[in-house]
Amino acid sequence: MYTEIQIRIKPEQAGVEETLRQIAARVAGVGAERICRVDIVRKSIDARQKEVMFNLVAGLHIDRIEEKEKVFVPAYRDVSDRETVVVVGAGPAGLFAALRLIERGFRPLVLERGKAVEDRKKDLNGLYKTGMVDEDSNFGFGEGGAGTFSDGKLYTRSKKRGDVRRAMEILVYHGANPAILVEAHPHVGTDKLPGVIVNIRKTIQKQGGEIRFGCRVSDLIIRENSIQGVIAGGQEIASRHVILATGHSARDIYRMLQRRGVRMEPKDFAVGLRLEHSQQEIDRIQYHTPEGRGKWLPAAEYNFVTNIDGRGVYSFCMCPGGVIVPAATGPNQQVVNGMSSSYRNTPWANSAMVTAIGPAELESMNYRGLFAGMVFQEALERQAWEEGGGGLFA
Ligand SMILES: Cc1cc2nc3c(=O)[nH]c(=O)nc-3n(C[C@H](O)[C@H](O)[C@H](O)COP(=O)(O)OP(=O)(O)OC[C@H]3O[C@@H](n4cnc5c(N)ncnc54)[C@H](O)[C@@H]3O)c2cc1C
Repeated sequence: MYTEIQIRIKPEQAGVEETLRQIAARVAGVGAERICRVDIVRKSIDARQKEVMFNLVAGLHIDRIEEKEKVFVPAYRDVSDRETVVVVGAGPAGLFAALRLIERGFRPLVLERGKAVEDRKKDLNGLYKTGMVDEDSNFGFGEGGAGTFSDGKLYTRSKKRGDVRRAMEILVYHGANPAILVEAHPHVGTDKLPGVIVNIRKTIQKQGGEIRFGCRVSDLIIRENSIQGVIAGGQEIASRHVILATGHSARDIYRMLQRRGVRMEPKDFAVGLRLEHSQQEIDRIQYHTPEGRGKWLPAAEYNFVTNIDGRGVYSFCMCPGGVIVPAATGPNQQVVNGMSSSYRNTPWANSAMVTAIGPAELESMNYRGLFAGMVFQEALERQAWEEGGGGLFA
């Protein structure tokens, strides 16, 4: 028999298999000897009280190990001879679009301006050494997009984002730790993401799709108000369907879309600083102990919201045990982001502290028109570069 129960348990108890089994047996009201296996189905940390506890949903296999019905089996098929759909950009959006196309019987042709993950890593090392940004290969651009060297935090506060579980299962199928299916705040880690991206590439190629690197799309081919393909490297690539998945850093694409008469409208976005603090200090505060997190607890996170002079200020993308990285995609610009490895084991925590800014406020600062926000961003990034003395970090 398989049954799921809820357990509230101390971290050190959850970490020892036999103790967990004994406690699970007590909660379920069965003899411990009858429990063949305990699966953690859901796990969250409750640090609101003095004593930090884990809330678990545990799956108990009683008397025998039951086969789980819900194993993800992707319906990827051979699409070598099917209609081609051009996907511009091999970031998370482009790669997931390509996988979806394969499921639906279309052949994805992914055009990516940057390099494959393996070569991209070399450019990032160069970025640290020289401080110079390669416009096609950096923390934002290249195979996997900003997602390759992102932190890989996979939780969203929004409930309207489609099938989140399915996205996680696809990541696990391609090599992410299955624990992401269980944790309340799942995290892949920068050290693991490149491997996952390579596996997604292999799936696309194996099923008959194609990925072209060093292939920057500069224009769309539109005839009689319908899409006919794209221009990349001066060449026409014909396709009746084009998926544009170039991410938010591809400013040249927004300008191209404007030239092509595509209707766009500005929206609010968040702008701010990235703060770095001692992880031990965050652990002490969040776990209410002078010793910090100890052996059984992960590096602590926080979530901060306040109101200053009527303006909402909030923390975003908190990276426990992480580092701050230079995420500019153009020369003479500085913008930073945060990430951590799956171990989250640096002595540092960082998070963005941001506030929303919209068209009206930008206008009051003399930034006008459709691209006011983008021009403001670029100006801020250039200023950060100059004031930082032209180096990687100010
Ligand atoms: C350091 C860091 C940490 C982050 N941490 C997290 C996190 O923990 N959790 C989270 O949810 N998000 C995180 N993000 C953000 C996340 O990575 C992005 O939201 C995500 O990558 C967006 O996916 P995308 O596919 O839309 O765009 P992108 O990832 O930007 O991909 C766009 C792709 O298009 C390519 N491209 C652009 N222009 C062209 C062109 N003209 N022709 C051909 N190709 C083109 C680019 O090279 C790129 O590969 C982080 C980002 C960074 C940089």
